[in-house]
Amino acid sequence: MLDCALTADVPLGPFQDHAVSVYSAKGKGSKLHARRTCTRLRADGAVTSEVPLNSHTIGRMCSSCAHHGDWGRPDSGVGLFLRALGGVGLLYQLQRYTERDRDYTVDQEEVERTAEVLRVEPVASEDEEHEEEDWEIRDDAERLRESVVSACRDAARSLHLAQVTVASFPWLADWAQPKMALKEQFMETLRGQAAHFVTPAGLLAAAAGASPATLCSPTTLSTVSAKAAKGTPKPAPRLAG
Ligand SMILES: [Zn+2]
Repeated sequence: MLDCALTADVPLGPFQDHAVSVYSAKGKGSKLHARRTCTRLRADGAVTSEVPLNSHTIGRMCSSCAHHGDWGRPDSGVGLFLRALGGVGLLYQLQRYTERDRDYTVDQEEVERTAEVLRVEPVASEDEEHEEEDWEIRDDAERLRESVVSACRDAARSLHLAQVTVASFPWLADWAQPKMALKEQFMETLRGQAAHFVTPAGLLAAAAGASPATLCSPTTLSTVSAKAAKGTPKPAPRLAG
């Protein structure tokens, strides 16, 4: 699970010290919750108050509520801003698809080995056991190809979402920049990996069938097609069919 709760270093721009309604148990210094229904808050005895949104308030937020981001009314500016950060919003996207994202573990060597397997046409063999073994290797290779291509697609979506959110709240730009750079860097790694599996013919088919938002991006297409053109002229059997 990625740690993507709202933290005090996130610039709040015009929402700095903006009043937000919070719930808390009685007593000074108790944790602040965005919802009365938060399971970490005992409903009986919970009090509602308004506090200014700042680093002190963020420091007192319950970690679950700080993660989900549903502070402020959903139709208010501050509510929209905090929702864009929380849940599967910007703070989560900034942590996904970077070198530090441990969910993706395919390395370059594995990709090259797999691409090599898929480049060779399967041939029928007299030896049943041997043939079965070959198909197993091929199935594994196809699964890995699918996970690399789908990671590339998901990483592109994640990067796009992060870019759109930062563009909507421009005071986040400087703060987000180093994190965006890590995402862009990792995107390059994924593009390079995906390029091993994409043939010019497969690329054209994908471009014809996919919406711009689901493609890796125009840059991806040019990078991937350039690499595919330089690679083996022999198409991978399944893609060519
Ligand atoms: Zn809570």
